[in-house]
Amino acid sequence: KPLLKIKHLKKYFEIDRSQILKAVDNVSLSISAGETLGIVGESGCGKSTLGRTIMGLYEKTDGKIEFNGQDVDLMAASERFRLHRRMQMIFQDPYASLNPRSTVLELVAEPMDIHKTYKNSRERKEKVEQLLEEVGLNRNYLNRYPHEFSGGQRQRIGIARALALNPKFIIADEPISALDVSVQAQVVFLLKRLQKEKGLTMMFVAHDLSMVKYISDRIGVMYLGHLVELSSSHDLYEKPLHPYTQALLSAIPIPDPDIEEKRERILLEGELPSPINPPSGCVFRTRCPFVMDTCSEKVPEFTEIESGHFVACHLHR
Ligand code: SF4
Ligand code: MG
Repeated sequence: KPLLKIKHLKKYFEIDRSQILKAVDNVSLSISAGETLGIVGESGCGKSTLGRTIMGLYEKTDGKIEFNGQDVDLMAASERFRLHRRMQMIFQDPYASLNPRSTVLELVAEPMDIHKTYKNSRERKEKVEQLLEEVGLNRNYLNRYPHEFSGGQRQRIGIARALALNPKFIIADEPISALDVSVQAQVVFLLKRLQKEKGLTMMFVAHDLSMVKYISDRIGVMYLGHLVELSSSHDLYEKPLHPYTQALLSAIPIPDPDIEEKRERILLEGELPSPINPPSGCVFRTRCPFVMDTCSEKVPEFTEIESGHFVACHLHR
């Protein structure tokens, strides 16, 4: 049963009277309870906007968002407040998202302060200590400040903070992109362990396909505001259907030199077009190696080609 279901979701930003930035355009997907959905795409593809719109941080332009079968538009304000308590976000840059003048205790306790979830200061402190332990930090760090920590440790503080209200659903918006490669895997495996232990549902946003497979049950690929492919992680890596997904995959170095290189590097020509004036028809057509006449005329429909494997491309019908 889906915890989250979005249908034809749009988030447009009006730049001025004549220009509209279509950051998220007609995206439909669902996330089952306990599942991790990876969302991948280059910067500017709309993946963060998608996350923020789902979180309610941005008001959607059109479309539907349902949690547990309930339309968010039809919820009373109090219901929506309760819902948002159950949803938390982890950000890309843990340093920018943590107030440098607050201690670890204050930072991690802040969501609990807002929602008054403890009886007294001892309970507050104990909960924070427990959260620090869960994310692999020392409980004696309570009175330290963010600048005293490494990037990976700061991201752990950000994760502890996101867990403070026992959320059901977490959107991790490029949580590892700002970290050293050596630390990225540690944070991914931490999130994976927490996801399992707590039965979290998660949307894990990334700008490439290198780490996302270790954490995602399914993966969606976005390009210029559109979801262009969605499938199980296994199928996406084994038989990517969309030319853009194929190009993203071909950019990942194969770590084991004994594995025979099956993929050829596909270099995309040209620049990412502006989402303010996206190409007609298929948004990927200006960079697609397989572009055909119909691609500029007709928008390819997001279609289920095989069970659970969706793609928007005229090559697959
Ligand atoms: Fe390429 Fe056409 Fe498919 Fe778009 S619809 S990805 S341009 S082949
Ligand atoms: Mg982003």
